Amino acid sequence: MEIKITKTTTPKAKPTGSLGFGHNFTDHMFIMDYTDGMGWHDARIVPYGNLEFSPACMVFHYGQETFEGMKAYAANGTHYLFRPEMNARRSNASNARTCIPELPEQDFIEAIKTLVKLDADWIPEGKDSSLYIRPFFIATDPFIGVAISKTYKFIVIMAPAGAYYGDLKPVSIRVEDEYVRAVKGGTGRAKTGGNYAASMAALSRAQAEGCAQAMWLDGIERKYIEEVGTMNIFFKIGDKIITPALNESILPGVTRDSIITLCRDFDLTVEERSISIDELLIAADLGHLVEAFGTGTAVVISPVNKLRYKGRDITIGSGEAGELSKKLYDTLTAIQRGSAPDKFNWRMEI
Ligand SMILES: *Cc1c(COP(=O)(O)O)cnc(C)c1O
Repeated sequence: MEIKITKTTTPKAKPTGSLGFGHNFTDHMFIMDYTDGMGWHDARIVPYGNLEFSPACMVFHYGQETFEGMKAYAANGTHYLFRPEMNARRSNASNARTCIPELPEQDFIEAIKTLVKLDADWIPEGKDSSLYIRPFFIATDPFIGVAISKTYKFIVIMAPAGAYYGDLKPVSIRVEDEYVRAVKGGTGRAKTGGNYAASMAALSRAQAEGCAQAMWLDGIERKYIEEVGTMNIFFKIGDKIITPALNESILPGVTRDSIITLCRDFDLTVEERSISIDELLIAADLGHLVEAFGTGTAVVISPVNKLRYKGRDITIGSGEAGELSKKLYDTLTAIQRGSAPDKFNWRMEI
């Protein structure tokens, strides 16, 4: 793949102080077009800026789009990606589900590597900082009939990021018992914007009750735990680690997979299975629910200290981040930044 690079003539000042998440973008972005009959073409990197689209553009009306979330890390002048092949593969799985043409995995990775290299001085160093990378695909036919678009864009933008919720600050989560995120046969396994559109009402309720996010139950019985707004979920019950098994309605997180591997490497028992909200409540009542945490690229690990279900508050642990959450966070972030051995071959130096 040939990538034409047009550098900005007006580089921006890097943000200073607390970085936050997702507000400031780097100097450049990657764009590539797809046209039926031609395939993917015109890979280019251009200065970051607004794009112009027809208001009839299909993505605006029917939401045919997918996205990914990944990070680049810097330590002592070396730059890394973390398991980018997992994102490339998942991206194609999301595209297949939404009829967006797949992009060869090596092109996906090359686009990101080239863009990260060009804006490498935007990768913040520091234990909790990274450069968040947002690749996404959108349907661009200027046509408001319902159809599968014949043209698409693949775009990558990047934003320097600090800790998502502040350094391992525990959050409270509201268990949503009316709305559902996804059902069997739906798009829950795909990383597509529509899943998020469908989730906002539950997020709004959670926030109105002082919670950071909503936890989803299964779409049929509203009984089995699926995941949290933007994260997969883990529980430590007694000395076992339990996380819902992947099914058609759960997003297969790269962090989830990495955390399972690390837990097993720590000789902990990990069960990937269905777990009901009732089992969780009983474990909490018996004092067996020791820890809960969400996992995702943006947050890494997000300890959960309170679950709110049908107006009842279930307190988990001491209110501070649990021991396992801290250990997993430190281990994973050290591997990501090159300061711990890469036993599982997860890092890609760029
Ligand atoms: C992206 C995402 C996750 C986390 O996936 P990672 O690959 O670990 O970042 C979990 N749940 C949902 C709904 C997501 O969109």
